Amino acid sequence: MDSINIAYILLGGNIELREKYLKDAENEIAKHIGNIIVSSSIYETESWGFETETPFLNKLIKVETGLQPIVLLDKLLEIEKSLGRKRNVATGYSSRTLDADIIYYNSEIINSPSLTVPHPRLHLRNFVLVPLCEIAGLFIHPVFGKTSLDLFNGCSDTLKIKKYVQ
Ligand code: AMP
Repeated sequence: MDSINIAYILLGGNIELREKYLKDAENEIAKHIGNIIVSSSIYETESWGFETETPFLNKLIKVETGLQPIVLLDKLLEIEKSLGRKRNVATGYSSRTLDADIIYYNSEIINSPSLTVPHPRLHLRNFVLVPLCEIAGLFIHPVFGKTSLDLFNGCSDTLKIKKYVQ
């Protein structure tokens, strides 16, 4: 049997129906990746790095998986694609139906050409740190040796984030 790993995955999107895309992504993850054992609230965030009319919804999930990191990334990219995400290579940041980022994979440090874990910008963004503090406040970032709460307290991100109420 494959060994069980714990991955924290951040889901986000800013194209309607935003909530439906999050739900569809969770269903696909449960089917193809593993059990979702903890979920954060949904948060609404201004877009980071570009302007859009519709703000992002973000949600962090903790997943048990037998998949190795690169296979996990490939599955997430397939799920993004199946939910209709079109990548905009020219501009970098863009509106999206679903973005799925690996925030942590166990306490592993991975620096491969296609995958960096912990996610290289997680400590810079409230839309990652706020849900992380909600479900894993004392988790220690394996590179910085700091908890999620410490990272949040030291983060200078000014983008507004609030709990999303349906
Ligand atoms: P994005 O436009 O943010 O969805 O970038 C996706 C690309 O970033 C993927 O094709 C990955 O190869 C790469 N990438 C590097 N590290 C990560 C990570 N921790 N989680 C997700 N994608 C990653």
